[in-house]
Amino acid sequence: MSNETPQSSLESENPLGPESKFRSLKNLIEYVSGKSVSDTEQQQDSGLVEVIPFPFLAMVGQVEMKYALLLSLINPAIGGVLLIGPRGTGKTTAIRGLVDLLPEIPRSLCYYGCLPEDIETGGIDAVCPNCAKKFARGEPLAAMDKIRLVELPLNSRLEDVVGTVDENDSTGRDHLRLHRGILAHADRNLLLVDEVNLLRDDVVDAILDAAAYGSYTVKRGASTATYRSRFMLIGTMNPEEGRLRPQIMDRFGLRIVVKGLENKNQRLEAYKRVHRYLENPRKVAQEYRDETKLALAEIQTARELLPEVNIPIKLSRQVLELIRSLSIDSLRAEITLFEALRAFAALDNRKTVSIEDVKTITPMALRMRRSDFMMKYLVDQASEEKEIIRAVEAVTTRAQKNK
Ligand SMILES: [Zn+2]
Repeated sequence: MSNETPQSSLESENPLGPESKFRSLKNLIEYVSGKSVSDTEQQQDSGLVEVIPFPFLAMVGQVEMKYALLLSLINPAIGGVLLIGPRGTGKTTAIRGLVDLLPEIPRSLCYYGCLPEDIETGGIDAVCPNCAKKFARGEPLAAMDKIRLVELPLNSRLEDVVGTVDENDSTGRDHLRLHRGILAHADRNLLLVDEVNLLRDDVVDAILDAAAYGSYTVKRGASTATYRSRFMLIGTMNPEEGRLRPQIMDRFGLRIVVKGLENKNQRLEAYKRVHRYLENPRKVAQEYRDETKLALAEIQTARELLPEVNIPIKLSRQVLELIRSLSIDSLRAEITLFEALRAFAALDNRKTVSIEDVKTITPMALRMRRSDFMMKYLVDQASEEKEIIRAVEAVTTRAQKNK
């Protein structure tokens, strides 16, 4: 296969001069999304046993999906991402590709997930007795560790998700054995819920409750155990396979409609990259290694910059006006939009949100927020109201005539 893919204008310039070339992560994403892979070296080995994910940065196009996923790594307060689209559009590939871009966070050294920030916000009672002692002795409660990608298996049962409490353990002593569920393992991590519309209702409810409260409690008889569960939720769904309850949809911050690539050149390029990856995943990963490292560093930087990013008052008023003009009631809409705007400015190395950011981010945060049910309900109710008033008028007019 000859290498005749369209070259972006950046391609001919200095490839990979990170300091000089990329002004920001946003800039890098725009660059790699149109970049072609060189075709010079052929595969050396294939049939690898280990799983090397398709590099996130090697995905062609799908810029909105990439932004949304990166924003969730920069600012967990956006409240998760839902990728909506048919099979084969790269949703799961993109999410798995994030593993090389996951930043470091302080991770609890304790079974119950206690963190120093819990003491800052909730006092010494906010951590377990063990951690309270450690804190008093000046010992660390957390250590820096990479965020992990935790996948929820499709056939998960409620007890797999929340864990269990065994009242008697095998030693026969009067001792509780606690089995942490997937949600406890997801604490401070990225939780991937594939095909969220196919999960059992009780499982989805448990996940969304934990996502909302940052913790959950398992009860068994008189025993209870509370686990911390602060995770970034990323869901996928194929609308052809079933609907998602509106109240569940509302709890995802950003919503991305993932379509197949429409541009022919992009499709060809995507095919070439996937083909090359299937032949030799290690080599493709290697080709994106430098850019992946750069992107990871940029994500860390953006996370550090985030607390300093602000939205000018005038712009925030305009955003609120925009939400009102679309008749969106959900408070989550504006929280998500504001937090995503701040993360996007951080992604572009800026401390101030601009009107251009609003153009890019608003559709992701606001689409599918209006409840069809509520809209129809209000219209139906209004027409019923009119009917009643007409009927009342008719009766009263007749009554007056007959007087
Ligand atoms: Zn603890």
